[in-house]
Order: sequence, then C-alpha cells, then structure tokens
Amino acid sequence: MLSFTIGDVRITRLEEIYAPAFPVGDLLPSSNLAELEHLGDRRSQFYEPESVCAYMSIHSWLVQTPQHTILVDTCNGNHKQRAMEGFSMLDLPWLDTLAAAGVKPTDIDQVVCTHLHLDHVGWNTMLDGSDWVPTFPNATFVIHRNDLEFWNPANPTSAAMGFNANVFEDSVQPLLDRDRVTVWEGDGHTIDDTLQLALAAGHSPGMAIGLVESKGQRGLFAADSMHSPLQVFRPDWYCGFDLIPADAEATRRRILERCAETDAMLMPAHFAAPHAYKVRPEGDGFVALDGV
Ligand SMILES: [Zn+2]
Repeated sequence: MLSFTIGDVRITRLEEIYAPAFPVGDLLPSSNLAELEHLGDRRSQFYEPESVCAYMSIHSWLVQTPQHTILVDTCNGNHKQRAMEGFSMLDLPWLDTLAAAGVKPTDIDQVVCTHLHLDHVGWNTMLDGSDWVPTFPNATFVIHRNDLEFWNPANPTSAAMGFNANVFEDSVQPLLDRDRVTVWEGDGHTIDDTLQLALAAGHSPGMAIGLVESKGQRGLFAADSMHSPLQVFRPDWYCGFDLIPADAEATRRRILERCAETDAMLMPAHFAAPHAYKVRPEGDGFVALDGV
C-alpha cells in the first residue's frame, strides 16, 4: 500500500480498481502517441502496449493530519446501479483496504468530494437493508456548491448526461437528508492548518483540488484535472470526460505550474503507478519525474 508523509501529514492510497481501462484515443481524444516516442520504454508505465489502453487507477487518498482523519474521494462503492457497465453493481473489498490502513469508518471525520462523478462519491454511502446510509457516520462531507447544484437531478443539463445517472440519488441525497454536508462556495475552503481546498473548474463545474502544506513540504490532490501521466507531458490533450475542455486545460496547466514551482507532490485521482509524481516544466509541457 502506497503511504508517505508530507511534513506531519500521512497520505495513503486506498485502491479500489487498477486496470488498463480505456483506449488512450478514447480517454484523450486529441492525443497522438507518436508525439511521445521520445519517452521510449517508459510509455509502458502509462498504457498497455498491446491494447494501447491507459492504465487507470480508482483510489481514495487517506489523509491523516495532526487534527483530522480525512478521505479525499470515495471511489465507486458497492451494489450501485450505474450506467457504465464496468462500474455497476460492484462488490469490491475497498473497506478491507481501509481497515488494512489501520482506520475504521468511524475514524473518518471529513470526506472531501472533489466532484460528484460516480467514481468519487460511491463509498459515501452503503446499503443498510434497502436504505443508503453514510459509510462514515462521524464524517462531514465537503462539496462545492457548483457541483452540488449542477449534478442535482433537477438540473436538465446534467440529467441528460446519462453516465452519472443515480449517483446523486444514492450517494449524495442521503447525506443531505441527514444534514451531513458542508457546502462551500467561491475559490477556497480551509479544512485545517495543513489542507486547503481550491476551486479548479473545467472537468466539473465545482471540482475541488486539495493543497497540502506541512513543515515546508507540499502536495496537491489534483482530482480529475488530469487522468493519465501522459497529460503531464501534453497538458493540451484533453480528457473525453472533461465538461469544459478549454477550462480543464487551463486548470491542468495551472496545477502543473504550481506543482513545479513549489516542488509539490502531484496526487491525481486516477494516475497509473506510482500514482504520485513530482514534475518539472519542459517545452510547452512538463516532465513527470519518478514518483514517490
Ligand atoms: Zn474520476
């Protein structure tokens, strides 16, 4: 299990799914892999050579600060009816992975939902009989107002996007009904002395990133601002799931610049192993340096 510290903050990756998932050409529609030939054998770290499918991880980041036990995103969850076949009615041992990290669901006191896509809010709730109840009974779930409003099924724009069907109803509404949600708005929100959230719209209207700083060391939870390390090298390759690709590209570049300038560990939600990288600028893009 990947676990490391940033100053006084311990960060642990909790894997739900890891596989060569989407053809690179589908995930990153404007990509042209011939333009990354100079990476040579290293490309097999980012996609399976035979199938040309990008290695994708779905994981949560467990963040243990001196003050809080936090989850950044909660993967897909179990027993949930989803439009995307590979993510529907899962039965995966993610709670065992949390236990292996030495943490009980009751220990979690904050859950940061970077955005309200199916693969980020699933373990917010679990089945109790026929009811969806909070998996983390002592947690506050932190959500930006833009995403809460956009993904509400009463919004016809998002309701027309079938891929996220049922998600609000089974993974967000039960928290609202129990008054477990902290809604934030504007550009920033403070979790504690070591973790700040910042609005990073583009992939989703209210996507949050998390800025970690402790004892002079820094990290950045980049959510879905980028889906593959290929986009570190080519930030202009948008993701097919980006709601507003131009905004998503600007956000991606801003995040990579910030990581390079502040020597922050880049920690997105879906990067292939080793899952977290330092970066440095090169040409019109960046270089993903060896991970943690
Ligand atoms: Zn995602």
